[in-house]
Amino acid sequence: MTMPTSQHKHPLYQTLLQIMQAEKAAPMPKWYPAAVTPADLQVIRKESAGGQFDKLNLRQNMSAEVAVGRGRIYAHENDFARIITLTDLPYDPTPLREWAHLIRIFGPAQRANATVTKTQILWFASRQDRFWPAKGQPLGPEHINGGYCFACKPNTVVIYRYEDATRVLIHELLHGFCTDTPVGPTNPLEHLEAATEAWAEIVLAAARETGVGAPQPIPGALAAQLQWVALQNLRLKRDHGVQSLRDYTWRYTVGKEAALISMGFFPYIRKYKNVSMRLTPPINRNSVY
Ligand SMILES: [Zn+2]
Repeated sequence: MTMPTSQHKHPLYQTLLQIMQAEKAAPMPKWYPAAVTPADLQVIRKESAGGQFDKLNLRQNMSAEVAVGRGRIYAHENDFARIITLTDLPYDPTPLREWAHLIRIFGPAQRANATVTKTQILWFASRQDRFWPAKGQPLGPEHINGGYCFACKPNTVVIYRYEDATRVLIHELLHGFCTDTPVGPTNPLEHLEAATEAWAEIVLAAARETGVGAPQPIPGALAAQLQWVALQNLRLKRDHGVQSLRDYTWRYTVGKEAALISMGFFPYIRKYKNVSMRLTPPINRNSVY
């Protein structure tokens, strides 16, 4: 088996590392005090209802917790972004430093859409982790999805799990900032999602490695991520029959691995170990990173 230790030298990954280093060296964006507005409450109400992907009603449940006083809403704003957080934790869990860096890397919202003034994130910080169904059972959105965003509308990012929220943020910003190859005869939605997920993986690894997307730099983040991908897919194929784009989770898992390989990144298994349905190897006790 080849040990792809040289993947770190991939030109795309090196470019991403440089972008992250430059971002880290730039002055820290200042968040200013912000209040929850009636417009925020309206957006929360709208985004708490319906939707075909949030099968566990994580958004609705978090809103209900807030409504009965078991949760709180926080608002944060800076020159280029606004974040609304709903949480049932006894503190504000919003990773302001890391998310400000990541959002700024994508650029001003106007770049994606002339009518949008700021990137907006609505985060329902539900602590329901992703989970495996019983062996042999298929996986659906409830096992994997964690957010959504309209293409080219960076003011419509919604994240609805605490776990992996930073990774979901990157995935949704990729949609919001028009980075996707449009759906067409040779690019079905499943391939578009697989490519977005592959990019999210590489961007996240570079962000972790430099300490832009995590409290501390994480050496070896790319290697850890690529092992995670291979391990998770081994279990998905072996125990849940995920084979083709007709399987719902293919786009975020096995299809993503194919997209990574086509980009020149090669997931590999060094040592078998148990793997969760989380999409990012844990780096510390705070699963938000
Ligand atoms: Zn997506």
